[in-house]
Order: sequence, then structure tokens, then C-alpha cells
Amino acid sequence: MTHWVRTRKLPLFDDAGHMAGVVGICEDITREHAADERLRLTNRILERSREALMITNPEGVIVEVNEAFTRTTGFARTEAIGKTPRILSSGRHGPEFYRALWSSIHESGQWQGEIWNRRRSGDLYLEQLTITAVRDEAGALQHYVALFSDITELKAQQEQLARVTHHDPLTGLPNRLLLTSRLVQAMDSAGHTGRRLALVYLDLDGFARFNDTYGNRAGDDLLVRISEALRACIEADETLARIGGDEFALLLHGAEDEAGLTERLARLQAAARCAIDIDGVQEESSGSLGVACYPQPTPVAAEQLLRQAEHALYQAKVAGRQRVHFFDVAQEDTQRQRHRMLTELRLALMQGEFVLHYQPRVNMRSGALLGVEALLRRQHPERGLVPPGEFLPYIEDSLLAVDIGDWVLRAALRQANEWKSAGLAVSVSVNLSAIQLQQPDFIAYLQGCLRTHPGLGPGDLELEIVESSAVDDIAAVSRLVAEADKLGVGFALDDFGTGYSSLTYLRRLPARTLKIDRSFVLDMLHDPEDLSIVQGILGLARAFSRRVVAEGVETREHGHALLALGVEEAQGFAIARPMPAAAIPGWILDWRPYAEWATTGTQ
Ligand code: C2E
Ligand code: CA
Ligand code: CA
Repeated sequence: MTHWVRTRKLPLFDDAGHMAGVVGICEDITREHAADERLRLTNRILERSREALMITNPEGVIVEVNEAFTRTTGFARTEAIGKTPRILSSGRHGPEFYRALWSSIHESGQWQGEIWNRRRSGDLYLEQLTITAVRDEAGALQHYVALFSDITELKAQQEQLARVTHHDPLTGLPNRLLLTSRLVQAMDSAGHTGRRLALVYLDLDGFARFNDTYGNRAGDDLLVRISEALRACIEADETLARIGGDEFALLLHGAEDEAGLTERLARLQAAARCAIDIDGVQEESSGSLGVACYPQPTPVAAEQLLRQAEHALYQAKVAGRQRVHFFDVAQEDTQRQRHRMLTELRLALMQGEFVLHYQPRVNMRSGALLGVEALLRRQHPERGLVPPGEFLPYIEDSLLAVDIGDWVLRAALRQANEWKSAGLAVSVSVNLSAIQLQQPDFIAYLQGCLRTHPGLGPGDLELEIVESSAVDDIAAVSRLVAEADKLGVGFALDDFGTGYSSLTYLRRLPARTLKIDRSFVLDMLHDPEDLSIVQGILGLARAFSRRVVAEGVETREHGHALLALGVEEAQGFAIARPMPAAAIPGWILDWRPYAEWATTGTQ
């Protein structure tokens, strides 16, 4: 090991004060030398360090700084030494901040964190700072050493990165990604606290048109203004996000207060109303809202809740401008059920499970058979015969209704043809659903079906359509009814009396027959109102020269009462229940009307 030695020569003096000689003293200063070396090394490192260094004495007066300090703060070494670190103070942090900082130093000897300071130039900068209290071996405070680096830019880059991945650049609002992560958290805490949250989708009405008319700049301005108005409607712990072009989403708390929620939704709608003046043209924006609440009776995930709110919004938009629609959990279950039923019934159609039963329509007085109504049933492999009321409602408006309707029409025509060939002339009535009539070229389709049975002539087929669906698109239906009439196919307005039954509609609809809904017939015996409805329908029919058929003749008394009013044509259990085609010839042979009916109303 190398030893460092310091030698000194000391003069020796005699008693008289004369120099008598010299002694050499040799000291081993290895340790001292090492300490010096360390100090020089430390100095060099600190001098070169990119981290700024500032050392103060226990009183807080700066005693040393390095080059990086000068580079960072702009203060030269000579300017800094003798001052206190207050020359760097930004004024951005309150006394509370500094108290916490010092108490940490006193307790643990160190503080670490981010702090805003001010350069000599006046610019603010953010630094990552470590302050250490340096004590000697005896524990006495000697210095405070502060090491720091400027992280202003780094921070800005980080924030920029977070902003672009989590925020919408136009409005600065959180985007869908950030909304989703906040939603996950909020749903989690709602699970613990039992509080309810509402996820609200807001979409501007007619924004695409606005953009097209006035340009993207005006569109962007509008979005920014509305985003600011919406921001004013939410609490600090709530989220407003922009999730698409003109779509915003809000995550609101406290939805258990229904009245409060309603009021807040109204405020959001008000915020979406923005008066705009573009080159003198006045426009006002408006928004539609879709709302999904959480928790729900069955567990849902965040993505699902987002879809629900979106779905509710879609329904609000379908209903018109400025609507609010709540996602309906029960309704969704119905939809799921509907979906299952559609699949099941499609399969049933393919496997030939549908059958037609026929119910005779007669003249009650003469007993003559006027026709039969084809009524659909499903021959279920386990449940047996299923009436149409249990499955038709699920398929209304679907293409399956068109396909099943097609099967019904062809099967009924085949049956009518069979009867006719066997010398049995019965007209067959077939029920149509509205969607069948809405198919393009319905008349051509009908003609095609008729052509497959050239033996059938005018009057062998009648079509029935429910009154209420006929008036939904009265112009189109009127045209179809008139064209079918030319082919020799008459129309009957089914369930008449349950729809509009107005003069205006009836005048426009050239249907030959009105079928009085069975509910009025059934109740007319004891309900004067139903009786007067029946009388009213008869009046209408007479005025427009339409035939009338009464449905629901369940008893002799019903027939009697109808005949007294002048109604002769009827269907009902008192005459016959719907039956398989094979039972019809036998029924014709057996059937006799009540003797009393032959005379009622004729005296
Ligand atoms: P609807 O067209 O009014 O058919 C008459 C319904 O009344 C039939 O019910 C029939 O069984 C029932 N009915 C007949 N007489 C009486 C009676 O005296 N009292 C009572 N309470 N009811 C009587 P069903 O067969 O269950 O059919 C119900 C409905 O399903 C039909 O009402 C019709 O709207 C629809 N439907 C049946 N088959 C078809 C079809 O092939 N296509 C379409 N689109 N709808 C059909
Ligand atoms: Ca019918
Ligand atoms: Ca009916």
C-alpha cells in the first residue's frame, strides 16, 4: 500500500537563541490525502454533473452551486452565493407546501418531489428536486444539499402524450378511451357505495347538415362552445367526454335521485341549445340524450353499459329531435327473447311445423256457408297446437313474417283449389301482416300465386288486413286494395273499430268488407257502449256500401242481437270453431243454424 508522507524540517535553537541544527519530521498523511482526493473527485463530478447542485449552510444561505445550477437557473455562482434559495421562488406553491417540505426534511432528513421555480429570466420551470440534510458524526446539522434537474419539457411531453391518447384535440375533453377507464372505476365504486350512476350519451341533432351548410370551421366552433356549456353542467368528480364527431358522453353520479337526474338532463339539453349567427343566418342547435343507469338487476360490464347508452340515444334520435330516452333493461330482455323466437320459428317453418285451421263464415239467417278464414297454428313437437297469438307478435315487422305469410297464402290457395276440384265452393280468407303489403311488387307477387292455381277464379280468395295497420300508410294500402280488387281479390278490414274507423279513412280505402272486432260483439250484450260502437260501424258500412261481418259470435244470443241490428254474416264459436281442413266437408253436412235466427229481425 502506498503511503503518503508529509515531511517538514524544523530548526533547532540552542539556549542562546542560535540555530543549532534542523530536525526532519515525517508525518503519515495517507488518510488526509485520500479525503482531499475524494473531495476533488466529488467536486469534479458535481461540476460536470447535469444535475444542478446547491449547498446551503444550516441557516439556509447558499454556500456553493455548480455549473448545472447556473445553466438551469441563470444565476451565476457569484450571484447565488450568499443569497437564500428564495431567489428561485416561483410563488406557485403556498406556505402549506413548504411546511410539508421542511417537516419531511426534519423528520427523515430528506425531501423529494416536483417543484415549480423561477429562473433569473423570470421564466417558470418545473424541477425534480432532492434536498438532503447533511450532519456531522456528532449529528450536528452542517449543510443542506439540493440536487435538481429541469423536467419542464419532459413533463410537457408526457402530458402531451397522455393528452393525445386520452383526449380529444379539438375540445380538450377526455376521449372514449379515458371515459371507459373512468367508467370502469366509477362502476366499481358504485358497487361498493350502493350509489347509482348515469351514463348519458348526447348527440347533436342535424349536425352533419350544419357542417355541410356552414363548413367544418363553423362546426368545430359549435362543438367547442357546446363542450364548454356542458362542462359547466358537471361536478368535479364527474366526466364529460367527446366520443365521436358530434357525440358527447357524460358520467354522472347521484342518479338514485330521479327528480335530480331529470333536472340535470334538462340542463344538459339546455346546454346543447346554442344560438348561432352565421353571416346573419340564425340557427339553433339541439341535442338528443340516451341514458343508461348502473347498477342493473343483472351484472353488466362497462362496454355493455356504453352500448346501452348508445342504443338509448339511437332510440331518442328515431323518436325525433331533442328527445331523452332511457335504456330499458326489461325491453332488452324482450328483444333477446324476440331474437330467440325468430330463430326458433324460422326453423319451425323449415321443418313444416305450421298448419292452417279454417273457421267457417256463414249467413246466420239462411245458414249458407260464405267462406272460411285460414288461421295459422304451429304444431309444436312437444307443446302441441300453439295459437298464433303466442308467436306472431314476435315476428311482426320481420322478414320472417313475410316468409310465413307467403307459406300461409300458398297453403290456403292450394286448399281452396282442392276443395273446388272436389266440387266444394268455399272462398278462403287469408290474414296478411302489414309488412307483407309493404313488400315491393305485392300485386305482381299475388298474381304469381294465383297463376299457380288457374282453376281458382274471382271471389275464391279474400285478404284481411288489420284496420290500424291499413291506415298507417293509407295511400299505398288504398292503391294495393284497388289493384287487388281488379284481380278479383277483395279486401276485408279486420278488427274494425279498434283502429281509427274514421269516415275519412274509410272513404279512401276501397275494402269491400268490415269485420267488426270480436271484443265489441262479445260485450255488446251487456255493455251499451260496445253496442253503440257496433251500431256506429253498421252506420259507416251502410253509408259507404260495405259488407259487414261480425266476429266473435259465441252464443245464440250474440247471433240474435246481431240479426236484430241487421247483421247476417258472422263467424264465431256458436257457429264453428276453427278446424283442420279435413273437417270442413263433414261440418258442412252437419251444420244447422239456430231455428230462432231464421226469424229474428224479420218480423
Ligand atoms: P283474427 O283475424 O281476428 O282471427 C279471428 C280469431 O278469433 C281467431 O283466433 C279465432 O280462433 C278467434 N275466434 C273465432 N271465433 C271466436 C269466438 O266466438 N270467440 C272468441 N273469443 N274468439 C273467436 P286465432 O286463430 O287465435 O287468431 C288470432 C289472430 O292471429 C287472428 O285474429 C289474426 O289476427 C292472427 N292470425 C291468425 N292467422 C294468421 C295468419 O295466417 N296471418 C296473419 N298475419 N295473422 C294471422
Ligand atoms: Ca282475420
Ligand atoms: Ca279479427
